[in-house]
Amino acid sequence: MGYLDGFKVTFKQIFEPRVTTEYPDEKREKPERFHGRHVLNRYEDGMEKCIGCELCAGVCPARCIYVRGADNPPDAPVSPGERYGFVYEINYLRCIHCDLCVEACPTEAITESKLFEFSFTNRQDAIYTRDELLVDDDGHPRKLPWEDWREGDETNTSAWVRATAPSGDAGFEGKVAWSGELGRGVVAAEQGQVAEAAAAKAARPSKKVARTRRSAK
Ligand code: SF4
Ligand code: SF4
Repeated sequence: MGYLDGFKVTFKQIFEPRVTTEYPDEKREKPERFHGRHVLNRYEDGMEKCIGCELCAGVCPARCIYVRGADNPPDAPVSPGERYGFVYEINYLRCIHCDLCVEACPTEAITESKLFEFSFTNRQDAIYTRDELLVDDDGHPRKLPWEDWREGDETNTSAWVRATAPSGDAGFEGKVAWSGELGRGVVAAEQGQVAEAAAAKAARPSKKVARTRRSAK
């Protein structure tokens, strides 16, 4: 009769609140620092942030970034530096979304959106080019035909940078230490995990109060 115990467990679950959703019609809100499809950012004046230094390519453990820098044309510079990212490609058949490229980038040029729902019918589409990764004239990610963008996927694309810069030093918590982005300006600083933990602790009732509440019951 042991199998009836199994039915009992199943039957009891019918009355529990559902934790599953009707994916993909219904999607859960993604965390602010979600690691999704990359974007190449621009400064507020429209200039590209990438200086073609190749640090992102050097640090990438999956070896999926290919960058080639070129000298900025003196009469029409692409970036504020001496050089810019002339060729920039990410192979999404390899990327593991570890964000080491984001951490390594000295100019906050490469960050990640929250988009992870994209699929391809050929290998060539899986290699994103500079034109596809570069944000548009309004500072928003380009939405490619094979990508399923949902509300919020393109907001806070620099959240990971804002959570870790500069170099994770707690002394910089809550201070803006990055440059503004086209279409977004300077985004507010995150308070950081130490401050969030302190706020959560302050919101919890003290042990003495909890004991008093328990004894009053
Ligand atoms: S997220 Fe990680 S694996 Fe993907 S391109 Fe960046 S460094 Fe490479
Ligand atoms: S994205 Fe950043 S790290 Fe990569 S080449 Fe451009 S400036 Fe350098």
